[in-house]
Amino acid sequence: MKRKFILIFYFIFLTNQLSFSQLSDWKDILTFSYFQNRGYFLLQRICDEAGGRLAGSFENEKALKILIEEGLKDNLKIRFEEFNFPGWVRGSDSVILVKPFFKFFRFVALGFNTISNTIEAPVVFANFGYEDDYKGIDVKGKIVLVTQERPKNREELLRYEAIEIASEKGAKAILFMNDKPGGLVLAGVGNFQGNPNPIPAFSITYEDGQLLKRLLIRNIEPIIKVKSNSYCIETNSKNAILTIPGKTSKKIVVGGHFDSWDISQGGVDNGVGIAVLYEIARNLSRFKNNYYTIEIVWFNAEELGLWGSKRYVEKHKDEVVLMVNLDMPGDPTGFNIMGFNSLDSITRAIVNSLDGFNLKDGIVNRPWTNSDHMYFMFEGIPSITPLGWMEEYMYHHYHDFGDTFDKVNKKYISNSSGIISLLVYELANSKVNFPRLSRNDVIELLKKNGLENRLRKQKEWKFD
Ligand SMILES: [Zn+2]
Repeated sequence: MKRKFILIFYFIFLTNQLSFSQLSDWKDILTFSYFQNRGYFLLQRICDEAGGRLAGSFENEKALKILIEEGLKDNLKIRFEEFNFPGWVRGSDSVILVKPFFKFFRFVALGFNTISNTIEAPVVFANFGYEDDYKGIDVKGKIVLVTQERPKNREELLRYEAIEIASEKGAKAILFMNDKPGGLVLAGVGNFQGNPNPIPAFSITYEDGQLLKRLLIRNIEPIIKVKSNSYCIETNSKNAILTIPGKTSKKIVVGGHFDSWDISQGGVDNGVGIAVLYEIARNLSRFKNNYYTIEIVWFNAEELGLWGSKRYVEKHKDEVVLMVNLDMPGDPTGFNIMGFNSLDSITRAIVNSLDGFNLKDGIVNRPWTNSDHMYFMFEGIPSITPLGWMEEYMYHHYHDFGDTFDKVNKKYISNSSGIISLLVYELANSKVNFPRLSRNDVIELLKKNGLENRLRKQKEWKFD
């Protein structure tokens, strides 16, 4: 009796927002991923059989093959779209302390380092690495150590800028000491254009950085030997695409990056995105009568500078009405509509209708950059990202060796794929004309949200 009553109540509650046909589709979509989570299994195969997925690498290609293979088992005809980009190959680099004792440092070379001679030089500490941090310090021919800690009340200093400054001052190499203890490193690119870094740049651990600092304070000069064998290369990669045709060829793109840093398995960044996209593909490809065409895209080469999404936008921007980006989706807590107010009412209706999912962050309206939605946003294409929650241990190893499959939470993938599939289904059948922002509106949006300065620093401000 009690159960029946609850069901009737639930039914009446939902029908306040929905028609009957939608209700049965909603129930179907929401429960689909809980019976079989193929995305989780796909991700396990990718992580454990292919390894880290640096764009353009053998491992990345192998992972793409696994995606196609698993897709065929689920009748998903995933295809590739190839693109060229300025790639990078990691060589067997070294960062070794040779004085006052011998120690192989734990480190990671930053993307776009190139082949160097063996550099053996004393270390100097230049604080955060700002221009004025070099006052009174002679770094010519030396190796500069800077901290990744960020001082309050000072403008952000990107690693790219710190490398440029150190190089101009005559340093031979630069070491970025991590701001978090625990043997962590922070992989990343040395610049966003794919240009060779002017000097070799490495991320080292907080602990090794502290050791160097203590020695310097006591006037014991540490000597370090570095060698870079990594190199830049013009190369190709592939976006993987699944199209679910709708009544109109205008597309809603649901994307996330496929590549990862190679030092880990990219289990969370962005393995969970790969898995959720796969579950959305399985879920929504069962619906053949959507109004908008849905295109699921696993973008490549995001970590090396958003190349896959950039090339996709160059080619397809006229076909796309809306973009949903999944970068490290967690347990859903709401949606960020990124300053595109036209998305407010539809997303709010979804959040309000899903009381039991506790989407407690609701709708947030705060644009951000440096993931695959960025170039869509620059074109004024409405973009949305889900908000999600993860336990600290899941993102603790962000861009570090420890971002592995064991950090992935299967249930969060199910939760995410249910909620985001529902969002996409609603968007694809809403027949709402998602208006693009004009160029001037985009400029205003970026300026208003304090994004102009950072984009200029990255040399990615496209609006002059
Ligand atoms: Zn990512």
